[in-house]
Amino acid sequence: MSKYSIHVLEYAFVEEFPLSGLVYGAHNQGTCKLPYGYVLIKGNGHNILVDCGHDYAAYGKTLSDRFGVINWRSPADVLAEVDVTPADITDVIITHAHFDHMGGIQFFPNATFYIQERELSKWIQIMSLPRQFRWLMVATDPADILRCVALAEQGRLVSLSGDHEDLFPGVDVMLSKESHTPGSQYVVVRNDGLRESSDGYVLAGDLVYRDENLTGGDPDDPHYIPVGLATGSQTNILMTMDRMVKAVGGDRKRVIAAHEERLPGYYPSRITDAGLSIVEIALATGEPSAVA
Ligand SMILES: [Zn+2]
Repeated sequence: MSKYSIHVLEYAFVEEFPLSGLVYGAHNQGTCKLPYGYVLIKGNGHNILVDCGHDYAAYGKTLSDRFGVINWRSPADVLAEVDVTPADITDVIITHAHFDHMGGIQFFPNATFYIQERELSKWIQIMSLPRQFRWLMVATDPADILRCVALAEQGRLVSLSGDHEDLFPGVDVMLSKESHTPGSQYVVVRNDGLRESSDGYVLAGDLVYRDENLTGGDPDDPHYIPVGLATGSQTNILMTMDRMVKAVGGDRKRVIAAHEERLPGYYPSRITDAGLSIVEIALATGEPSAVA
């Protein structure tokens, strides 16, 4: 019995992104497609998003254009492909505060948001640093931080301190401190509901960008390579990758990276009329496929 349906929904992409931006040290190894997406976990009366994309407006548009993001579609358009509206979203787990993960807060009027307390407070601290530290803000929109604080005033923010098992039944969030960002978190879905799950998936946020981060390009004798962008410790990222792989019993394909362009080839998927992919990671028992 699977409790949740899990879909990775692409909402925009970069056509040619330097591989070295994703796999640490992969200099002069060319470019790849970089999809931007969020993950819908549906079941048990919840429509949970892991991250919420960004708005192609204001500074979100500026950052988008700087990274070469094209073909942006709104959450209303993207979620319609799986028969969900933004108003139906009950909960949003923010893996970290980069603009393409947290820049869509305003699209989800009924959702409660979950972020690590450390992620929020440390970004406020980073925003307070002198101008010469602005590289740290390379992918952060200050307006998103303000919107996140506003959620607290509205009673719609849950700030987490560390790992949290069963945030929803069978859904754990795990802190990866001082890694990709100060307080990144990733999500483990134990889809059989068991504590020692044999049907687990990890939704990795930006702690894994591509397969090479988990395999080193050698699946037969794998080693971990950090992601290409981090403000924290690369060692912490490698330790987190190992925790992730162990959480899915060593099956690396169950560590889901929404930025991995090859993901639609690993699971049932389809391309929408807008030219964006929908990847069906899991289906709750009895649910019809959204990609057939
Ligand atoms: Zn990021």
